[in-house]
Amino acid sequence: MIKLHDKYFKPFISEGEIMAAIKKIADQVAVDYKKETPIFVGVLNGAFMFVSDFLKAYPYPCEVSFVRLSSYQGLTSTGIVETLLDVPENIEGRSVIILEDIIDTGRTVKKLIDLFSNTKVKEFKVATLFYKSEVYNGEYDIDYFGIKIEDKFIVGYGLDYNELGRNLRAVYQLNQKHMINLVLFGKPGAGKGTQASFLKEKYNLKHISTGDVFRYNIKNGTELGTLAKSYIDKGELVPDEVTIKMLQDEVEKNPDASGFIFDGFPRTTAQAKALDDFLISKEMRIDATIALEANDEVLIQRLLERGKVSGRSDDQDENMIRNRFDEYNEKTAPLKDYYDDQGKFHSVNGIGSIEDITSRLAKVIEELQAV
Ligand code: AMP
Repeated sequence: MIKLHDKYFKPFISEGEIMAAIKKIADQVAVDYKKETPIFVGVLNGAFMFVSDFLKAYPYPCEVSFVRLSSYQGLTSTGIVETLLDVPENIEGRSVIILEDIIDTGRTVKKLIDLFSNTKVKEFKVATLFYKSEVYNGEYDIDYFGIKIEDKFIVGYGLDYNELGRNLRAVYQLNQKHMINLVLFGKPGAGKGTQASFLKEKYNLKHISTGDVFRYNIKNGTELGTLAKSYIDKGELVPDEVTIKMLQDEVEKNPDASGFIFDGFPRTTAQAKALDDFLISKEMRIDATIALEANDEVLIQRLLERGKVSGRSDDQDENMIRNRFDEYNEKTAPLKDYYDDQGKFHSVNGIGSIEDITSRLAKVIEELQAV
């Protein structure tokens, strides 16, 4: 797996397969053109490697030239094909064989045909290394191709993602695993909310804090808020049915999210099971549970400090805090085994500067993405 800019790509076509495909094209062209001296016209930028290896595989006299077009921006074709370097001179009466790295929708081919239609070439042919035959518009019959591929975004061997990846010897395809769903795990005060606010920006995730949703409901005087307050004020957990339903609603409000950070949920085995079942029903899954570890004395100090600033009643009383820890030890701590059994439990040291802890978490997340 390799990373280019923000995306991950996995191996798709090996160097050996590429070379075999080029040899196949060169042999076919050689049969058709050995009696003359064709001009091979490479389409820049993507085709530079193909042109180079093709010429090495082509056994008869030939000339080479280039045109330069641009149509891709990022992951999807813009559809606008510009000419940046025009047709070579003195091609009248000659056979021209275009060498393209990849043909997909056919917009570039169309532009090339336009470009060469005013020239009095003897013959005009198109050879492409990669050919997305399923999406090709078919207006012009491609004369030679190396490897047919499905409509996947690929990089390497001249092809780029925002200019990176052209130097790779093999071809890689975009790893479509976009979604990352994380559970941030840890005692009250461990820094779950603080870290979630950094991670959600960094990885474009939706942050759901059940504590925040409860507090929002309390502030707005909703029925849910009134119910939750009676438990929160004692440092107890709100009943599972209520919390699970609320969490599901929050996920459903965000159908386009590219992933979620669950903060403060699940807090009981029943919640963890309900979360798994719910995510399976949506073809989603938890990728990792990451625990922020810190000892009770550090946490109590942090919570009392936070209580002074935030005004959160449950952070202002040491007994209430200790009660929340007891709830955690009894009901939430067993989740470590639950996620461990699924091979998803990771733990990081939650003591240190905010940035250091973010980097520790990022390291775990990036290892996940690289799988
Ligand atoms: P937090 O902001 O995560 O520390 O949550 C504050 C309080 O909200 C907790 O002490 C619980 O009373 C309640 N709460 C938050 N999340 C949950 C949950 N998943 N299950 C039950 N109660 C919760």
